[in-house]
Amino acid sequence: MKKYQYVTIPLALHGVVCKTDGSVIDVNIGDDPGDPVVGISDLLIHLSADQLQKTAAKVIGGEKLDVTVGSIPLEGEEKDAVKANIAKLLNEKYGIGEEDLLSAEIEVVPAGPARDYGLDRSMVAGYGHDDRVCAYTSLMAILDAEPGEYTYCCILVDKEEIGSVGATGAASAFFENTVAELLYLTGDKEYISLRRAMENSRMLSSDVSAGFDPLFPEVNDPKNAAYLNNGIVFNKYTGARGKSGSNDANPEYVAWVRGAMDNAGIYFQTAELGKVDQGGGGTIAYILGNMNMNVIDAGVAVLNMHAPMEIVAKADVYEAYLAYKAFLKA
Ligand SMILES: [Zn+2]
Repeated sequence: MKKYQYVTIPLALHGVVCKTDGSVIDVNIGDDPGDPVVGISDLLIHLSADQLQKTAAKVIGGEKLDVTVGSIPLEGEEKDAVKANIAKLLNEKYGIGEEDLLSAEIEVVPAGPARDYGLDRSMVAGYGHDDRVCAYTSLMAILDAEPGEYTYCCILVDKEEIGSVGATGAASAFFENTVAELLYLTGDKEYISLRRAMENSRMLSSDVSAGFDPLFPEVNDPKNAAYLNNGIVFNKYTGARGKSGSNDANPEYVAWVRGAMDNAGIYFQTAELGKVDQGGGGTIAYILGNMNMNVIDAGVAVLNMHAPMEIVAKADVYEAYLAYKAFLKA
């Protein structure tokens, strides 16, 4: 993320606090209109002469992202009296003590609901479209799909932005274990069956693509860019500096996917993630590709990716849903 985008905007707190007695407390502060919000301060423009000399990457340092949560001291408290008052409030509302924050996982995110964007209401503004917009459409597609000849699945994984690592990331054994368990339930205990199930599977890696922004045309090759309202985006490959770190879908599989989309009348576009020399990015596609699965990236074009306000076009969201459903049916 660009850290400077996250200061002086209303922020909400979402997450869990786990206590030693095994109880888990859900925390959700800032999204209800009656809730307070929190935030991160920035220097006033009048005293920013030095700050404004810094590059955009350094103008707000990582350690300057502390969140302001209160200002009233607890009566009778001498030291850290504001902190003591906040601790008291948290204890009253959630029954948690300061030490319970050791086993908490709380995300600080832009506050408020997603909203219609544009005078024609053609788009949706919200944070975290990357990748909730693809997770949502994928989930709805499988929930609405008629059962078919093959086993369908929708895998929703965490930690993609930090490399898909850990027990909840795509690189974990979770999916393989799940397929192994399913095979086991059918009475098939052969290891080779698991490997064959992986190799004979087809997958769409549902993740967003960078939408062409007319204010910054210089970072895209306009002939290979994704445009809002042009339908679901297929990226044959993603990657940085070309295809580094990418899954490169084989042309036979791309042809199969094209056929499936054409048969269902889906509007799709193909793109790469910006100009070759400009940067790049990756998805989880290569992880399943490493199991010899056929995988291609397919998702919704987004403007302002990773900013507190990301933009998607409603028509693209709907087309992604239809495309995912068509893929399951094909
Ligand atoms: Zn991302």
